[in-house]
Amino acid sequence: MPSEDRADTNFEPSFALEPGLWAVLVHALEVVERDVRARGITGTLRLITPDWDDRGEAWVEFQGCYHGNGIPPSTGKDPGTALVDVADAVQETIMELAWKVWPVCETHDLGLRAGWEQEAAVWRCAGDGTHTVAPVGELP
Ligand SMILES: [Zn+2]
Repeated sequence: MPSEDRADTNFEPSFALEPGLWAVLVHALEVVERDVRARGITGTLRLITPDWDDRGEAWVEFQGCYHGNGIPPSTGKDPGTALVDVADAVQETIMELAWKVWPVCETHDLGLRAGWEQEAAVWRCAGDGTHTVAPVGELP
């Protein structure tokens, strides 16, 4: 993870002033959504900014509900970071609202975690000493 990209973020930008940051997160959600549909999960997925959230963060909404934590606008500065963070948020939202472990490693029947491998966002399984299942957006 390119942590130096975050270190110099002293103040948080806003989606209103920097719509490009929102566009990066929307694109990341489109990529993650492929994995959601690949596992047969239906229901609308989108990003929202709830009125009550005065930090102006992006929240993943699934079937009209949201859960967990918002994603700060600065996440959109790096498309790779955005992909991992959106994948995390989608996972948390779906597991809470659909009562389903998603996504799952078919070999080990374990829940996957989004992470980094060779500067790409991937889904990893902790079974058998950890292995990479697929890039985010390309689950079989
Ligand atoms: Zn596995």
